[in-house]
Amino acid sequence: MGPASSTDMGSREHLVMVRYGELFLKSDPVKHHFIGMLLRNIRHALSANGLAARCETPRGRILIYGDQPEKIAGIVSRVFGVVDVSICSRTGSTPEALCSEAISLASEHLSAGMSFAVRVKRQQKIGPTSQELGTCIGSAIWDHIPGLTVDLDHPDYEIFIEVRDFGGLVYDSRIAAPGGLPWGTQGGALVLLSSGIDSPVASWLVMKRGCEIIHLHMDGGRWAGADVLAAAIDNHRKLSCWCPGSDIHMLVADSEPLYDVMQRLRIPPRLRCVICKRFMHRVAALLMKKEGAQALVTGENLGQVASQTLANISVISEAVTVPVLRPLITYDKEETITLARKIATFDAHPGDLACRAVPRMPATKASLEEIKECEETMDIDGLVAHASGSLGRVTARDGKIIRHVPPADARKN
Ligand code: ATP
Ligand code: MG
Repeated sequence: MGPASSTDMGSREHLVMVRYGELFLKSDPVKHHFIGMLLRNIRHALSANGLAARCETPRGRILIYGDQPEKIAGIVSRVFGVVDVSICSRTGSTPEALCSEAISLASEHLSAGMSFAVRVKRQQKIGPTSQELGTCIGSAIWDHIPGLTVDLDHPDYEIFIEVRDFGGLVYDSRIAAPGGLPWGTQGGALVLLSSGIDSPVASWLVMKRGCEIIHLHMDGGRWAGADVLAAAIDNHRKLSCWCPGSDIHMLVADSEPLYDVMQRLRIPPRLRCVICKRFMHRVAALLMKKEGAQALVTGENLGQVASQTLANISVISEAVTVPVLRPLITYDKEETITLARKIATFDAHPGDLACRAVPRMPATKASLEEIKECEETMDIDGLVAHASGSLGRVTARDGKIIRHVPPADARKN
């Protein structure tokens, strides 16, 4: 299909302009590769959503032509690697062509008493300067619509003009996108995803840096609050909105027997949180290999709870040899919550998420020797084998659960 010559926005030629940021800093071959991945992800996201589109890649931009620019912009603004998107009109690059388009766009949004500004950028520094062009286009708008004022600092309305070697682009808004690196450019990571606030944000942050992710939730069965599994599945579902058009998988492993064993063997309650986290890391490290992931990700945060003191984090890390990424390690809770709201994973009323195995006084400095002595009595390898061999799988795409295969009747054994 060709460029959209007629859209529901009128008779002008509309397209979606994509800006990417950091990719620009790469060397030419790496940049070429990353832009190729970004294009592949954009095309996939659009075609999976039933949108036909044609892409062009002039220097520093991706231009997308299609019949539904608003829908295209909405989807592409959730693609990692994209900094922002604008729905533009494409014009010639002469001042007359730019003025005419700017006036017709301004006429739809400006009326007497409003202030406005024109921002111009030129790819090639020839002809009138950006400032001269801005003044010329601003005057034309001012002449055309009575009662306007120009305010370059806090205008009611802004028009952006880009003069590029292929012509002009005129637009009036920039839709923010997540930035980062294209999905898949950094390999795979397995994320320990809980029902909480932190691990979804951690997952989003590693996705943003180009990792393909697979989630792992440890289902504590009757030791977990009544709403824990549903809330973890919901976190997984929400995160799938950030990889438009792609299936995202969550493994669900049965960890109920771990708590049963700790109870039966009367493992000192203060050590149970650290033993539990070491167990989660062990199961995750084993599954990482099977799933082809290169790193393990958690939402751990220095000093947030007793199990996350530096001393305990180092005892937890000792259980595995794989790389463990903790994107939130230095975040304040408020910073995490702000980001969780922004990426729409925050839920103010998540229900009963209490862990029934948490003691009143968990150790803040568990001794590795003591932990190992306890673990030796527990057949940890058998428990890990059970958890990693009894997996459920939940598949999400574009904010919907599309498949839910429960664990293989693990609890009946
Ligand atoms: P979050 O930290 O995600 O808000 P939380 O507060 O319930 O959840 P913590 O006790 O802080 O969990 O655990 C630290 C990290 O361990 C979590 O960020 C997550 O990566 C992992 N984790 C905790 N519980 C589970 C679980 N049931 N399944 C998978 N991973 C978990
Ligand atoms: Mg936490």
